Amino acid sequence: MSDVVSLLAQIEDTGRDTRGPGYQRAGFSNTERELRDWFLAEAARRGLDTEVDDNGITWAWATAPGDNAVVTGSHLDSVPGGGAFDGPLGVASALAAFDELKTSGALERAKRPLALAVFPEEEGSRFGVACLGSRLITGAIEADRALGLTDANGDTFADVARGYGLDPNRIGTDKARLEKVGSFIELHVEQGIGLINTDQAVAIGSSIIGHGRWHFAFSGQGNHAGTTPMSHRADPVVAASRVIGDIPTLAAATDASAVATVGRTLIHPGGTNVIASGMSFWVDIRHADDAVVKQVLEAISQRAREHAEGAGVEVSISQESYSPTTYFTAELNSRLTSVLPDAPLLPSGAGHDAGILAPHVPSAMLYVRNPTGVSHAPEEACEDDDQRAGVSALVKVLEGELEVAS
Ligand SMILES: [Zn+2]
Repeated sequence: MSDVVSLLAQIEDTGRDTRGPGYQRAGFSNTERELRDWFLAEAARRGLDTEVDDNGITWAWATAPGDNAVVTGSHLDSVPGGGAFDGPLGVASALAAFDELKTSGALERAKRPLALAVFPEEEGSRFGVACLGSRLITGAIEADRALGLTDANGDTFADVARGYGLDPNRIGTDKARLEKVGSFIELHVEQGIGLINTDQAVAIGSSIIGHGRWHFAFSGQGNHAGTTPMSHRADPVVAASRVIGDIPTLAAATDASAVATVGRTLIHPGGTNVIASGMSFWVDIRHADDAVVKQVLEAISQRAREHAEGAGVEVSISQESYSPTTYFTAELNSRLTSVLPDAPLLPSGAGHDAGILAPHVPSAMLYVRNPTGVSHAPEEACEDDDQRAGVSALVKVLEGELEVAS
């Protein structure tokens, strides 16, 4: 069949950003569906039974479906302007690993079922909640709340899901399906500099540091940019921008390793000659210690209230998602370490479906070296040889898992 490099080449033109380098592969978009159809076709070509479950998660059974399954996979959506590897590397590697396991006869010897999985809307770039598919199946987000989420066009997730072929009434926690997963292993491109200066192409995930997203909405008085004196303005853009400007200092003052980012703002109504009536920003805060995340949020919230008062506007703050620091399953990780003794253990500042699944099913991650250390941007990279090394590592891990009887 095809190796991981040529598998990724098959989708290298799908969802290319027409406005610049990188990709636009939003969750539950036509592009994500096109990528999912590519995966379904590749799985079918290999003779795998495929299904899309009630939450839009795609499963391809390499053996007869059954309990205590070994599952590997990742996601195919991207952040706006994202790179080629975040997500698709794990999916292509799963297909390539299946090919190797089949050729080597490991599948015939397997004591457990094997399935490949693709999770939808992992980045949360459309509906604001990352890992939407894995949150839904595990119940980490309530179905009602998810169905009411809206995208930038004002379309609800309920409507978009319906258009994607899902039944909104069936979306939500699926314990029966989750219980069939005996272990989940997600291979992913490394999203930082963790492996750059090592002679190792692959690392084992130790934890995913706590992270959350909060929405700050400032509202003031929309008005004429020419006739309203500066002293008579209630301009939400002024208040929100001051807060954004203060965030680096507030995060650093709380803890040197805390990170806080505003990567998205929205000004309403957004006219050059109009004093805005509203401005929103979304802040992403991460730290290994959950208490530090709370402290950074509190510092930013306090500053937001001060600047809102100073500018004569209102501010409301709401949490969109929060995931405390997740440690991958110790027993599973020790099995990974025994088959990959040279692989370093790496914590991740990035969230993943494996992190959402970890409290429910034994989960682990493999990271493949990224020579630029850049991710969520077109410069994200992964050498061909490292991609193949990632598949070899995944094959070793899956072989081991398939032989564990319980
Ligand atoms: Zn990812």
